[in-house]
Amino acid sequence: MTNFPIFDGHNDTLLRLHMSDNPPSFFEESSAGHIDLPRAKKGGFAGGFFAVYTPNEDYEAEPKEHMTDDGYDVPLPPKISHERALSFTNALAAKLFKLEFEAKGQLKVVRSTDELKYCLEHDIMATIFHIEGAEAIDSNFDALHVLHQAGLRSLGIVWSRPNVYGEGVPFRYPSSPDTGDGLTDNGRALVRECNKLGIMIDNTHLNEKGFWDVAALTDAPLVATHSNAHALSPIARNLTDKQLSAIAESNGLAGINFAVNMLREDGGLGTDISLDEIVRHVAYIAEKFGVEHVALGSDFDGTTVPDSLGDVTGLPKLIERLKVHGFHDSELQKITYGNWMRVLRDTWK
Ligand SMILES: [Zn+2]
Repeated sequence: MTNFPIFDGHNDTLLRLHMSDNPPSFFEESSAGHIDLPRAKKGGFAGGFFAVYTPNEDYEAEPKEHMTDDGYDVPLPPKISHERALSFTNALAAKLFKLEFEAKGQLKVVRSTDELKYCLEHDIMATIFHIEGAEAIDSNFDALHVLHQAGLRSLGIVWSRPNVYGEGVPFRYPSSPDTGDGLTDNGRALVRECNKLGIMIDNTHLNEKGFWDVAALTDAPLVATHSNAHALSPIARNLTDKQLSAIAESNGLAGINFAVNMLREDGGLGTDISLDEIVRHVAYIAEKFGVEHVALGSDFDGTTVPDSLGDVTGLPKLIERLKVHGFHDSELQKITYGNWMRVLRDTWK
């Protein structure tokens, strides 16, 4: 166990459980995927944003099929329908609520920072209902209000593919995140409605124009739940120094993603990398923009992580490497959960 409860910005555990034919119980230790409750306890993983994400149907694009001279450029998947996204969102959200039901008090869907604090202090896994890509939200925002009442507290306007609200970045290396048009009028209205309801807006996956559109409109801190420093790994999914500076100025944060291709300088997919590749991104943001503006956003169960980490049980090794790098306890407290607590307190109403 680490000294600090680790609160994490992003996982795709709900999708993994939903998509596997015979998933092992979340409450029993297994070697499937990255997170289950017993392994989370071993790793000091106290909770995080549990993403509800609707994949494209029958669509697969492997980077190795889209190689360029110096990297890869995978085309954006096509749009998906609102109807499909809404029914898939209901299924995955139900998965989260069923987990809470079966957990008999060991896991909670938190709706306020008081609840989050209580869970962190009482060893209850704290989960935030997050939607990645707003296709399930109609432009009258009926679904948004219903989902908010159900517990939705965080929304990514886009997963990379375009939708009626905006457009995200493709899986492209090397590339700036300035890859397309910004938010639509519907997208701008969505930002205002989320502000009104106190739903956190996640800028991860959004292209750079969309990011600046959100920045110009929102009254909440700017957040990217699972994106890294573009200066260290120039993939379209990472954040430029200018974006990181705006995040810091707004008193927001970036959660460091453990995806190997977003950590590595060469954007490569090889998993034989050291935990110091993660430390490098944390330290860059902490040193250049302030330790208040960096946290963790693992992408567990949604990406390929370094072999040296393995799964959620590898987190104590990462904390150890952060200590060796020179982070003091007061700084580690901010990186592991304190910054998330602050940003959520400033965002949720
Ligand atoms: Zn993502």
